Amino acid sequence: MRPSCATIDLDALRANYLLAKRLAGGRTLAVVKADAYGHGAIACAKALEPIADGFAVALLEEALPLRASGISRPIVLLEGVFDPGELTAAAELDLWPVVHHEAQLRMLELASHRPRRIWIKINSGMNRAGFSPREASSVWQRLQAIPGLEAPVWMTHFACADDPRSSMTLEQIQRFHRGVATLPGETSLANSAALLAWPQARGDWARPGILLYGGNPLLPHADPDPARSLRPVMTLSSRVIATRWLSPGEALGYGATFVAERPTRVGLVAIGYADGYPRHAPTGTPVAVEGWRTRLIGRISMDMLTVDLSPLPEDVGQGAIVELWGKTVSVDEVARAAGTISYELLCHVKRVQRIHRGVMITP
Ligand SMILES: *Cc1c(COP(=O)(O)O)cnc(C)c1O
Repeated sequence: MRPSCATIDLDALRANYLLAKRLAGGRTLAVVKADAYGHGAIACAKALEPIADGFAVALLEEALPLRASGISRPIVLLEGVFDPGELTAAAELDLWPVVHHEAQLRMLELASHRPRRIWIKINSGMNRAGFSPREASSVWQRLQAIPGLEAPVWMTHFACADDPRSSMTLEQIQRFHRGVATLPGETSLANSAALLAWPQARGDWARPGILLYGGNPLLPHADPDPARSLRPVMTLSSRVIATRWLSPGEALGYGATFVAERPTRVGLVAIGYADGYPRHAPTGTPVAVEGWRTRLIGRISMDMLTVDLSPLPEDVGQGAIVELWGKTVSVDEVARAAGTISYELLCHVKRVQRIHRGVMITP
């Protein structure tokens, strides 16, 4: 079998969740949308169920398999529902939809069967989704007229929490609190970046995603504490399946973009962009072979890529284990080299076998 796999360390996932919860100092939803950022939502939710206060997904279809596999904690639908039928399904499965625009609020008012709890999204400056802080009290009035509904969770989302130098997060926190301070209900503000960089963003419910998977969302200039304690959850690995020497002047791969300047030993690795490795990762992107850090050379192909084995001992060759990202090379480093973010790399992993490791705790 092709030796390419994504190994998921569920113990690291749980450790990261507990770190998030410590930072939050309150109830903490584990965000498992997009198949738990490519880590397998059911396995991750089951591993977290005994310790997590709840979960969040983007949409109904992501919540259904979680409930079907026995997850009984609260599940928030971050994008809310798309039609009245979904509201009925949410009610039956005790899912908590976010309501972030007028049409969703109308649906809720007109529904015959509705969830007992909803989250209301307030636009505090990101200007993507949500009611304005000014509208919050009129939304509250309308919610009060709906029978059987508990007080909502008022939530907002940050545009620049990854940048500790930006003043935008504090402005958003202020605008949010000005809108909802006097209204009944609970609050939810912090994503991963806010948990790591903005203690002022604490609320009743935190919503960490990437942090659970060991990704550091903060910009490179940010203070690395407490992100230093994050443990990588996914190791994306494959093996060297062939080696060859390039003489000076010989080119490598599509576009002949890499030309050897000195005798260069090349390892051919069985993974490529069809497996989710970013095609834009340039020559020089870090990679680890048998635990030694070295670099990619040449373009990424659909099914293969090439690495520089020249700095490594001669006996590291065919069959050597290659870590594309994991404990030796962080997914953040690869993302930075490829001009993207860890989120995108993790979500895009496909075609490789996914293996979950770690002790399953039964509640
Ligand atoms: C995805 C999402 C999160 C989690 O974000 P991270 O940056 O991964 O922590 C939190 N809140 C909302 C509304 C989201 O859509």
